Amino acid sequence: MHNVVIIGSGCAGLTAAIYTARANLKPLVLDGHEPGGQLSLTTHVENFPGFPDGIMGPELIENMRKQAARFGAEFKAGTVTEVDLTQRPFKVKAANEAFETRSVIVAAGASARLLGLKGEKELIGRGLSTCATCDGYFFRGKPIAVVGGGDSAMEEANFLSRYANRVYLIHRRDEFRASKIMIDRAKANEKVEFVTPYVVDEILSPQGLVTGVRLRNTKTAEKREISLDGVFVAIGHNPNSTVFKGKLEMDENGYLIARHGSLTNIPGVFIAGDVQDHRYRQAVTAAGSGCMAALDAEKFLEEHKD
Ligand code: NAP
Repeated sequence: MHNVVIIGSGCAGLTAAIYTARANLKPLVLDGHEPGGQLSLTTHVENFPGFPDGIMGPELIENMRKQAARFGAEFKAGTVTEVDLTQRPFKVKAANEAFETRSVIVAAGASARLLGLKGEKELIGRGLSTCATCDGYFFRGKPIAVVGGGDSAMEEANFLSRYANRVYLIHRRDEFRASKIMIDRAKANEKVEFVTPYVVDEILSPQGLVTGVRLRNTKTAEKREISLDGVFVAIGHNPNSTVFKGKLEMDENGYLIARHGSLTNIPGVFIAGDVQDHRYRQAVTAAGSGCMAALDAEKFLEEHKD
């Protein structure tokens, strides 16, 4: 029987692990399908307080993991496939193991969205990627595209220009959701060419490998093809909340709904990080909400010593 099972090992889950471990609750952290969460897939993090020169995302997350382990947090690999939150102790199944726990912190994060094109999923690893840091290296000296108009797209376009000889930044509008500083950096990068307002109608892959994209202008309907070797999709994320459907309150997009900080409709179940946040979505806000969930879980366990 565990005191607290933390679902997810990103910034929110690991902060919750540090706090609950320091409270001697010996938390069990279930890693999920993307250990380390989105920080492990990013590059230079310049806005996490305490790092005046910035820090690489994977290093930041590794530090948090070590910090949690140092105070006694336990880690297990595996994605949660089933939860029973109808009564305490709660039951959580991951990687064919079942765990019983007095409390649960859901910090399952959010995952990269795809464009929804035919055959797109099959092209992952064959020229299509959602992770610039993971796959940028494979496109040395080659032309590639980044799709999206948010901060992620700008950041990835800049990062990928280290490898690629040309980066087409394809966005469906002429305006961008990204912050000004990120747009300015991408615009100042001579390898990055903005292609707007265009949507991707088709990813060309005659031999099962990406060779280009067929685009459509959203204002004039003009069609255009660009030959390239890689497409990086950077159009946002979906919350990893499927397993909680019908169990925890969620909005129409699947984001879990928090009541008073990290509390949910079920006493003893707490939520933190991007699985419940479509507004701020920052590493530091995820860490903050992980801390809140840990403090709430600690208080709950203190009050329910049954
Ligand atoms: P985002 O801000 O939600 O932007 C998603 C972009 O993808 C939007 O431009 C959107 O277009 C476009 N898009 C969505 N669905 C699409 C589709 N089906 N086809 C074509 N385009 C589509 O997501 P994000 O860029 O991943 O950023 C998420 C959060 O993380 C933000 O709060 C951001 O500030 C933060 N972030 C910060 C940094 C940093 O500061 N270093 C880096 C990365 C991310 P529309 O605009 O037309 O809707």
